[in-house]
Order: sequence, then structure tokens, then C-alpha cells
Amino acid sequence: MRVAVLLDERCKPNSPAYNYLLKYAGSCGAECIQFEENKFRILETACPVCFTRAKLCPGDAVKIINLPKELDTDLTHRYGENGFGLFRLPVPREEQVIGILGPNGMGKSTAINILSGSLRPNLGEWAIEIKDWDEIIESFPRGELRDYLTTVAEEGVKIAVKPQYIDKLPKIFEGKVSELLERVDDRGEIEKYTKLLAIEGIMERTLDKLSGGELQRVAIAATLLKEADVYFFDEPSSYLDIYERMRIVKIIQGLVERGKRILVIEHDLAILDVMCDLLQIVYGERAAYGIFTQPRNTRTAINAYLDGYLPEENVRIRDKPIQFLRGRVRGEEVGQPILSWGDMEKKIGDFHLKTEKGKVRSAEVVGVVGPNATGKTTMVKMIAGEFEPDSGWCTMDAKVSYKQQHVSTNFEGSVQNWLDSELGMKWRSGEFHTQVIRPLQVDQLLDLQARRLSGGELQAVSIAICLGKEADLYLLDEPSAHLDANARMETAKAIRRTMESNEKAALVIDHDIYFIDIVSDSLLVFEGEGGKKGNAVGPLNLRKGMNKFLSDVDVTFRRDHDSHRPRINKPGSRKDREQKIDGEHFYVE
Ligand code: ADP
Ligand code: ADP
Ligand code: MG
Repeated sequence: MRVAVLLDERCKPNSPAYNYLLKYAGSCGAECIQFEENKFRILETACPVCFTRAKLCPGDAVKIINLPKELDTDLTHRYGENGFGLFRLPVPREEQVIGILGPNGMGKSTAINILSGSLRPNLGEWAIEIKDWDEIIESFPRGELRDYLTTVAEEGVKIAVKPQYIDKLPKIFEGKVSELLERVDDRGEIEKYTKLLAIEGIMERTLDKLSGGELQRVAIAATLLKEADVYFFDEPSSYLDIYERMRIVKIIQGLVERGKRILVIEHDLAILDVMCDLLQIVYGERAAYGIFTQPRNTRTAINAYLDGYLPEENVRIRDKPIQFLRGRVRGEEVGQPILSWGDMEKKIGDFHLKTEKGKVRSAEVVGVVGPNATGKTTMVKMIAGEFEPDSGWCTMDAKVSYKQQHVSTNFEGSVQNWLDSELGMKWRSGEFHTQVIRPLQVDQLLDLQARRLSGGELQAVSIAICLGKEADLYLLDEPSAHLDANARMETAKAIRRTMESNEKAALVIDHDIYFIDIVSDSLLVFEGEGGKKGNAVGPLNLRKGMNKFLSDVDVTFRRDHDSHRPRINKPGSRKDREQKIDGEHFYVE
């Protein structure tokens, strides 16, 4: 099957793509490329010449894709003639948590709208206004999904959705947390869930006065309180620390006991791994098409994803596998200290931060972990020189490049102009281009307006800018936020490579354990009580640091014997108990 997709936002009047297509519209006798009522049309039956022309359209505005024949019968929905195509669907199952793994822009929301009955799939026949349910149902093989769609058609189903972009919630709902939750409290369980999610203390605050982590937990509570047949959580771990992530895993799994069907999209692989019964990978091309794989065992699906090859589909989704280091003694090759500190203290309002003694050496990447609001950002800001400690010392003979936790830009112009203005010409070629720009897929964003980037895109460009600056010490505050799983792993590798080859140092704050495992030589561990006090211990070597951190969280990890990735042990399992007795919360090798 050949698919031609036209990306409208890259084809606005007077854009290079617009002018290019206008030139060729109607130029061939068969009218392969047409222009009518201010809209282009590319026939999927176009002649080879026009196809090549369309393919060469500037600004990546046209995608021409050849898909394997097997998919011919699996097209679930197409948004119009040159619109996005969705193949197959996620399969909600009774009493199971189904994970979905893959990038954004591949049709998750479309799929959810279909599964909730709010969008009637057209099976690719976009010209037909409303397709008959019988025909839709017939097109799916007998099984769980077909039965489910029959229920959607006959009785309807109720879906409760925790949306991806929670930062929009304060604009939609202006009242207090308690008012929001009371409104959706279908079963009278407000007390139970506010306690489980530890949000009792913020019930009288309005939504716009909440931190990201608080807002996320309120959004999750609101979803859980609704009575529904299917629960859908789109990126529930964003803004949460690992304690909170583990807590929501348990709560979401609790829905299974109530006989519910649960779908979860998540980019933190350790969390996805421990949370789901089965996993479906979604792959394809952003804004062009998305394909859901069949549900598979979670462990094998994640391993295949990391490996970059899906054996059942015979599809390669990445050139190279993502590898977890094994047996390497880390942190031995590092150089001279470039930053050291001792017994710093800082009071901000009611919050009190203390540090022990620590140092960072060149070619060293220090992972920074700990609960929310224990002072990680505050410490990094002191190092960056944004403010002075009240007491103690910090010596640094280094130039700093700093990526803030909350990224934003007012830059007027394209991503390309933005990179030029921050980094000069150096990002365009050479080592930096191959080590950072390309793996972070920033090269595909160059023509977009900086101010209109999505959260993940803005994060990727901000990381590239931070790493591209000339400095001795790189500070990155929560770089994995908004990135999909693949982009996280690529970012971790890009940070490592940049530090190793330039003999520079980095401090990287993050909550994603896979990310931390790949990026770190050593760990700076924060402990304390969120919002009240924090204490920074280390940097410790990776094993010691992980043991300290994870014993605080009460979680143990083992290594997967095939992929060597860390896997969370089921709480209370034999391995979990044994490792706790041995004090081995995390296997480095
Ligand atoms: P995801 O939830 O995975 O980010 P979506 O299902 O929201 O993906 O969107 C997938 C693609 O479908 C996007 O590129 C979007 O432009 C396109 N799309 C979404 N809704 C519509 C619509 N109503 N009409 C046309 N195209 C749409
Ligand atoms: P972390 O990065 O570990 O989540 P932060 O360093 O951002 O934690 O914050 C630690 C504590 O200090 C939080 O309780 C936060 O609310 C408080 N805090 C940080 N900056 C300020 C500020 N400018 N004014 C008042 N309180 C602040
Ligand atoms: Mg922070």
C-alpha cells in the first residue's frame, strides 16, 4: 500500500512547500497533484514522476510511504485523503493493564476516541461520512477487540481519561481541588483516593497554585474517582518522583481488582514494565501514520523495543539497539576535580537545604536523584551561581551551561535561527551534529517556529542548546520530561558522549531510572522531607548511590538477563526480599 500524507502546518500559503507544490499542481496530464479551494491534493495513484516530485517537497511537508501489503486490511481510520492513517487498535481487556509504548503523534488520542465511541472509524474510506458499525466490527478478527467494539456499538462504554497535558487543567477549571474532585466523585471515595495520593493537604488550593507533581496527582485522582468501564492514563508519571511513581503503579493496578479495563501510555520504561500485564508498541511516522502491534508479554515487548526490531512484524524501528552497560567499572577514568563544595546551607522560606562534602571531576556525569521538593533545583542553582549559599563553601573554576527544569522560549523565528543565535554555526556539522543534533532528532525540527514547538520538541532543542555551549560543567534539570522513551535513551547517550569526548562534567537531575542508569558515573542523592528539608549526600559511586536511594524508596531492581536493563522487582517477591536482606537494591552488573 502506498500512502501520501500532506502535513498542513508545513504547507501554509507562501511557505517553500506551498510554492513548490503550486508549481507542479496540474502540471501532469493525470492531475496527480491538484490545487483546489486553497488545498492541495496528492493522488495516491499518482504517476512515478509526480510521486518523486511530491517526495522532494521542501520542509518535509509531504510523506510518501510504502507499507507492506499485510497492512492493507488493517487500516482502522484515515483523516481524509492525504491525512493521518491509524492501523489496528489498542485492545482493552477486562481486569488487565495494557501498556502502550511509542512516540507521540502516532494516533493514541485517535485510538482512544474510537474506543470510547466518540469517533466512528472509517476503515480508510474517508469519503464515507458514517460507516455502518456491523461493517466495522466484521473487519476485525474474532476476539477480545471485536467483542469490545460490539459493546461500544450496542451499549456504549464509559471511558475515564487522564490527559497528557495536565498544565491545561487550571485554565479549564478555575476552582479549588476539593471542588473539582467532589464533582467527579461517583462512588463517594474522595477520602480514600486523596489519602492514597497524598493530596489531602492541598484540597483548598486552586489548581493554578499547584506544582506539576501536585497537579498530576489531582488529575489522576479525578480520573480514578469517575466510574467507568475503561480507564486511560496518558503519561501518568510526568512531574512525579520515583516514590510517587511507585505509588501510582499500585493504585492503577488496584483498578484491576474492580474488574476494570486499563490502558496506560508511559515513557518511563521501568514504570511501564512493572505496571502492565501486556504491552502494545506503536510505531510509524509522526503525523503520517501509526501502527499498533498486537499485545505481547511486557518483558519481551520492551526488550524488542530496546533492540529496535519487532520480530513478529519483521520491522526495524531503530538503526541500533539501546544498550545498558554491563560490568564496566564506571567513574574510574574521570579526571581532575572542577567543582567541590562543603557543608552548604540554604534557607528559602520554610525550606532548609543542607549538603555534605562533594566534588565533581572532569569527564564525570553525576546523576542527581531524590524526592520532589528536597532542593535538587536549589542546589543546582547555587552551583550555577544564581544565588549564594547562606553558609558553607563552593569552589568552582568552571564555566557553566544550564538547562532549567521548566523550558520555555520567546524566540521569534525558526528552530534553525534559534540554534544559530545560541550556538553560532557550529551545530550544523561535525561531531556535535552526529552526537547530539541528529540523535535528538532536532534536525527534523529546523523549519518549525520555536514558539510553537510541543513540550517534547522544546525539551530536545533546549538540551541541544545546553550541550552545544562552550562550558566545563553542564547542568541539566529534568531533561527526560516530555520526551518519549526513545528520545530519553538517545539523550542519555548524547550527554555521556559529549562529556567523554570533551572531558567535561555534567550534573543531571532526573526521575527516570533507565535514564539515570545510562547517563551516570556517580550519584548525588537527596533525602529529606519535601518542602521542609533536604540533605544532599555524595556524589557516591553508582552502586552505593543507587542502594542508598532505592532503600529510601523501598524498591529493588534486578538486571534483565537478555537486555541487561534494570527491572523493578515485584514488592514482596522472593527476589525483592532476598535483595533487601543483602542490601543489594540495585544490580549494577
Ligand atoms: P497522539 O495522541 O499519538 O499524539 P493523535 O491521535 O492526537 O496522536 O494524532 C495523530 C495525527 O492525526 C496527528 O498528526 C494529527 O495531526 C492528526 N489528527 C488528529 N485529529 C485530527 C482530525 N480531527 N483531523 C485531521 N487530522 C487529525
Ligand atoms: P526539587 O528540585 O528537589 O524538586 P526545589 O529545589 O525546586 O526542589 O525546591 C525545594 C523547596 O524550596 C520547595 O519546597 C520549593 O517550594 C521551595 N522553593 C524553591 N524556590 C523557592 C522560591 N524562590 N521561593 C519560595 N520557595 C522556594
Ligand atoms: Mg527541581
